Amino acid sequence: MLDLGKECQGALSIGITGHTNPDGDCIGTTLALWQFLKKLKPECRVDVILEKPAPEFDFIQGIDQIITDDQVPFVYDVMIVVDSVPERCGHANTYVMRAKKLLNIDHHISNPGCGDAYYVDPKASSAAEVLYDLIASRQEYLDLIDKELAQTIYVGIIHDSGVMQYSNTSPKTLRIVADLISYGFDFPKLIEETFYERTYIQSQITGRAVLEAFPMLGGKCMVSMVDRKTMDFYGAEKKDLSGIVNELRNIKGVEVAIFIYEVGTQEYKISMRSRSYIDVAKVAVFFGGGGHVRAAGCNMNGNFYDIVNNLMEQIVLQMEQNGQDE
Ligand code: AMP
Ligand code: MN
Ligand code: MN
Repeated sequence: MLDLGKECQGALSIGITGHTNPDGDCIGTTLALWQFLKKLKPECRVDVILEKPAPEFDFIQGIDQIITDDQVPFVYDVMIVVDSVPERCGHANTYVMRAKKLLNIDHHISNPGCGDAYYVDPKASSAAEVLYDLIASRQEYLDLIDKELAQTIYVGIIHDSGVMQYSNTSPKTLRIVADLISYGFDFPKLIEETFYERTYIQSQITGRAVLEAFPMLGGKCMVSMVDRKTMDFYGAEKKDLSGIVNELRNIKGVEVAIFIYEVGTQEYKISMRSRSYIDVAKVAVFFGGGGHVRAAGCNMNGNFYDIVNNLMEQIVLQMEQNGQDE
């Protein structure tokens, strides 16, 4: 296991980052690590460099200090990439490349581990769970957890485990969560406001995407796409689309849900979720993306229909291998 204190020994500046389009796990883990390192190494400059998080996370301590642009070409002694590989860090990649030392903390099965030292646990529900493990590995680190830090780790865990509902939730996840909620933060409010609440725009665009979804492979696959024109019509941004793929997966009989949105001319972002036997990480990796067995994504170029056909080919291949192609 990676020892955060040891790896950062002698460092006077530490940068923390995660993937572009940061989700709750990425936001929770980067800020929890920030809060932890500020306590562990008070002599150190500690920064989070990340794309601007969605406003429902505004209550998290440190969120107002995130560096959201690339204006300061600072060279950090240690740069820590969480919930991602360095290649997916967007504007923060310039900091990653310049840093004197690179650490990587993740739970993506598609990440073999990067940098000078890394800890990747594909069995963990979230990068936040991995971070908790690293903190819990030493009593002196564990003693630094307070209500604020517990809450921030908790945010990461609930977002990637669907509030401890997805199959990545283990008995260990629940034990960690039990420890975390014992710090006494208002967890029902947190779940409501960061996980379930939708703005009117988000609800509208989700409704539209579900309305236009079409079944493939006899209903085992549900596909929907939102183009730029539709996003502009509703005034929706990419962060407003994150709940759609789960809605598609909830439809009875669906094994694989595919949600696609246009990011540029002939350029699409693909989100995939599966229910029980298709490994969507494998499909995503085939097209240059990554993720987990039940939740993965990638970016693809070309015509929308060609993209859907190419994805179907990989899914059918797996169904044949699994004997589920009847
Ligand atoms: P999403 O569908 O964007 O919510 O992503 C589902 C999961 O796959 C998340 O754990 C993402 O971090 C991961 N993922 C999505 N897109 C990519 C990508 N292009 N490369 C690697 N991992 C990805
Ligand atoms: Mn993530
Ligand atoms: Mn994650």
